[in-house]
Amino acid sequence: MFWLRPCCTLLIHSGFWILNSGFLHSVSLTAGIIARCDNMPLMAGFPLKNEPHRRYNPLNGTWVLVSPHRTKRPWQGQQEAISEFRRPSYDPQCYLCPGNRRAGGRRNPLYRSTFAFDNDFPALRPRSRGKMIDDLRMTIDDCENEADLSGPIVNRRSSIVNRTEAPSSKTSAILKAMPERGVCRVLCFSPRHDLSLAQMTVNEVLRVVEAWMEQHRDLARRPYVNHVQIFENKGEMMGCSNPHPHGQIWAQERIPLLAQQESNCQSSYFNRNHRCLLCDYLELELRLKERIVCDNEDFAVFVPFWAVWPFETLLLGKEHRSSLTDLRVRERRSLARVLRETTARYDNLFRISFPYSMGWHQAPGDTRIQPVHHLHAHFYPPLLRSASIRKFMVGYEMLAEPQRDITAETSARQLREQPPERFQA
Ligand SMILES: [Zn+2]
Ligand SMILES: [Zn+2]
Ligand SMILES: [Zn+2]
Repeated sequence: MFWLRPCCTLLIHSGFWILNSGFLHSVSLTAGIIARCDNMPLMAGFPLKNEPHRRYNPLNGTWVLVSPHRTKRPWQGQQEAISEFRRPSYDPQCYLCPGNRRAGGRRNPLYRSTFAFDNDFPALRPRSRGKMIDDLRMTIDDCENEADLSGPIVNRRSSIVNRTEAPSSKTSAILKAMPERGVCRVLCFSPRHDLSLAQMTVNEVLRVVEAWMEQHRDLARRPYVNHVQIFENKGEMMGCSNPHPHGQIWAQERIPLLAQQESNCQSSYFNRNHRCLLCDYLELELRLKERIVCDNEDFAVFVPFWAVWPFETLLLGKEHRSSLTDLRVRERRSLARVLRETTARYDNLFRISFPYSMGWHQAPGDTRIQPVHHLHAHFYPPLLRSASIRKFMVGYEMLAEPQRDITAETSARQLREQPPERFQA
């Protein structure tokens, strides 16, 4: 905080602050009241649109370096080849199209809406193999003793624990592993091979929302499941090998690292302020209107103040809900509309089928409404300034912290200026 003047210190106790139009707006979150110092020019004279600064992400406790002055530098790096061609509505070679045989040998039904199936090559299995558990007993005990239910897992094959020796405390403190059970499913959004969420009707996207709800309900009620990760990788740039519109659902025993970080931050904010972090943040963004991309009566989409990816967005419900299964009937349709509109705006930005990874964060475990976790979705698109220039997380990002050039406010304005309906190719 090298650039904060002494009078700004009053903001820091809340651990939450936000910038707007070159001024720092304070958010004092005490006794459940947001007090924004609208007219207090705490950052007067500091050219946020041009000068390097860091922004704090209260949702996961990390920082991002923002370097807006670099957006004018010439680009001489990689340009991605654009592969935009019209896909057929049915592809006999596609393992997700209705009636086709999958790589595992099973044949898809002639589905007419959405279709979910267990991944033929799952990253997780419902049962850990006994021998593996025995092999790992030493480190499991160690982890359980520390109540360390999340965090990185050491792959057994890469472990160098010597089983012929009695485990020393030093070994077990360094080499840790634990088995992980789970279920991985694939969800086809549509029988049509050539569509994306932006090209589907509201009713068709609603079927996807309802399928997410059904899958979450089905998987979360398994006794050992504590986290259900619903996500979509779209586009070759995101490593998606099949253009057929589909997403994935991984349900697992322990809460994975990033979800745990956000859960911890939301919990500690709630404990301090007796309010939901994302309810407070949404209220702030709706008031400031600087980073809003679009909204309707039930949902809002904006580029978060702390966005790392150039056109990253956060999708939040205006009512506090903890999981997809909490959504009321009207909210499901509102969600379908805002999903369709958000993806259409993305596509319109560079007039391509915009690549991204998106996914939901919900309350862990069962589906009871609770006050700490606020249901939300993240969109993380890799593109930077055109259909062919992508953002890389390399160098400084790999070794220090995330960095971006274009500001969240500029990205939001660019998305906001796009038409809400997808362009016609
Ligand atoms: Zn297909
Ligand atoms: Zn909330
Ligand atoms: Zn999240």
